[in-house]
Amino acid sequence: MSAIIVEREIPTEGPFEGKLATIAASALQAPFGLKPVWREPLAKHTSVRVGGPADLLIRVRSQEALRLVAAEAYTQAIPFRVIGDGTNLIAAEAGFRGLVIRNHGGDRRLCADGVSVWADAGCSLISTARWTASLGLSGLEGAATIPGTVGGAVVNNAGAYGWTAADSVVRTKVLDRHGERWMYPDELRYSYRTSTLKEQPGNAVVLGAEMRLTPGDADRILATMQSRLETRQRTQPTAPSSGSVFRNPAGHSAWKLIDEAGMRGKERGGAHVSALHTNFIINGGSATADDVLALIREIEEAVRSRMHISLKREIELFGEWEE
Ligand SMILES: Cc1cc2nc3c(=O)[nH]c(=O)nc-3n(C[C@H](O)[C@H](O)[C@H](O)COP(=O)(O)OP(=O)(O)OC[C@H]3O[C@@H](n4cnc5c(N)ncnc54)[C@H](O)[C@@H]3O)c2cc1C
Repeated sequence: MSAIIVEREIPTEGPFEGKLATIAASALQAPFGLKPVWREPLAKHTSVRVGGPADLLIRVRSQEALRLVAAEAYTQAIPFRVIGDGTNLIAAEAGFRGLVIRNHGGDRRLCADGVSVWADAGCSLISTARWTASLGLSGLEGAATIPGTVGGAVVNNAGAYGWTAADSVVRTKVLDRHGERWMYPDELRYSYRTSTLKEQPGNAVVLGAEMRLTPGDADRILATMQSRLETRQRTQPTAPSSGSVFRNPAGHSAWKLIDEAGMRGKERGGAHVSALHTNFIINGGSATADDVLALIREIEEAVRSRMHISLKREIELFGEWEE
């Protein structure tokens, strides 16, 4: 008989281990079936499939569970971050020191005015968009092609096809170290793929958002979503990636600059620049986070030296990077 192997045992050292153990214990007692995982590889929780271990990771599937675990993390004063589907993150090989709360799942509802909806932060943005379409509400047609959660979209001001989250979000409920409160657009200060929440990572947890839409024809809205989805499937790779790596500089397309800089198909270890869409870096199966960052830097240097343009990153480096 083989022996029982404890693959990732509870660590006994490190600055936060005692506090993390307290959080793990309280999560286990919570009525949500939470399973804290020690030393969980972040590669399992990011769409580009790279990244080393989070000291502790707890997966939550409802707003109540998110609130409970995040409140405990604030009480324990430990470093923690909430992630959604990890579709915009390059997690470091060294992982993350502290607690990562992986948030996917939640409820949504039509508000009393009949044209606004509430979605918990863990709801998939795509399925939320399709749900609003089925209610005959227009506004989230652009959102219907963007992977990730509502929480990630609210933080990043995600956008596509002329739509950005800022166009729909009326207010978002957040939890911070002082408790729960509403944040409105004036405080969110949305601009291209960013917000106050994005610029101060970890300061507040998004619990959900209210979005205002307009009445429309369900079939027509769904048809628009479907045709955009098909366009995407033709023009963007489906292999593991974090989507567009760089923002479009004013008056330019990042993919074109990258292409003209000769970076199409360029490889670094197991990572390469997509031939289909040069603003995507693909994990061919064996890429490490370091491969991806090396390629990002190479692109930046190539575009800077050949086009005299400094590209700005859209993706976020997450965890223990030494940049
Ligand atoms: C194939 C592909 C295509 C893409 N296309 C687009 C596109 O067209 N347009 C676009 O804008 N983006 C695009 N992206 C990027 C990505 O999908 C978006 O940025 C998305 O909104 C991220 O959501 P997420 O849940 O995965 O967030 P994550 O990547 O998990 O997190 C992003 C940031 O939000 C924070 N965060 C997440 N949830 C919470 C929360 N509840 N409370 C507090 N902070 C939170 C995280 O800490 C992190 O700082 C694409 C990505 C891929 C892989």
